[in-house]
Amino acid sequence: MSEDSVTSGSPSVGLAPRWRRVLMKMSGEALLGEQASGHDRKVLERLANDVAAVQALGVQQCLVIGGGNIVRGASLAGSGIDRASADYMGMLGTVINALAVQAFIERAGVPTRVMSAIPMSAVCEPYIRRRAIRHLEKGRVVLFAAGTGNPFFTTDTGAALRAAEMNCDAILKGTQVDGVYSADPKKDPAATRYDRLSYQKVLADDLRVMDASAIALARESRIPVVVFRVREAGAYAKVVQGLGPHTVIGGEE
Ligand code: UDP
Repeated sequence: MSEDSVTSGSPSVGLAPRWRRVLMKMSGEALLGEQASGHDRKVLERLANDVAAVQALGVQQCLVIGGGNIVRGASLAGSGIDRASADYMGMLGTVINALAVQAFIERAGVPTRVMSAIPMSAVCEPYIRRRAIRHLEKGRVVLFAAGTGNPFFTTDTGAALRAAEMNCDAILKGTQVDGVYSADPKKDPAATRYDRLSYQKVLADDLRVMDASAIALARESRIPVVVFRVREAGAYAKVVQGLGPHTVIGGEE
């Protein structure tokens, strides 16, 4: 791990975290980094440093990593594999990602547990809600794998579901951009970033921050969804302290 990435991942001194327990969701594609497939070691190291920095703030963390770098059910379906089987393949991909991320977080000195919605006892723990809460209370980062355990869903919905079950104070959605914009900032230079947005506007304007069922679940549970740029070292710890660019969706409606 480079000295540089450890320093840049460190939180700012003296600022209390905004939340006691969070769930951070990032896509599997983010793990690709510069690679065409699999996992980029640099991305895994940066993520692990960021998780360690948030842990040092005393925040309990749940993580959900997607599987888009391995299999996306909807894309695979139709190529001779039925949709449900393709989705199960996608869910298995998220377990692979969770194990990769777990290895790097533990190298950074933070204890973890992977809990899968599809039981596979030789590989990781099955998801048991009360046990997951106990892990968090003991200071372990819990990685929720295999999404909801059901085909035709996404890891975004899995993330919102687990955040509700774990009584998380916020869902932190790490994306390629540093928040939600009025238009695509890559195409429209006049696009502006929202500081706050309602769940309703995200759904009505089809802003595609997370899928609609994930946003609806977050709204139901009154959990704010905070969108930030995950590729920037240290951004995760900053957003937990209320710093850096980000967009907050809902929470106070
Ligand atoms: N998946 C599923 N049910 C779930 C979660 C995920 O069937 O509850 C499958 C689905 O095929 C999806 C794939 O797993 O395409 C990978 O998840 P996702 O697309 O959410 O990953 P991300 O886009 O976040 O990398």
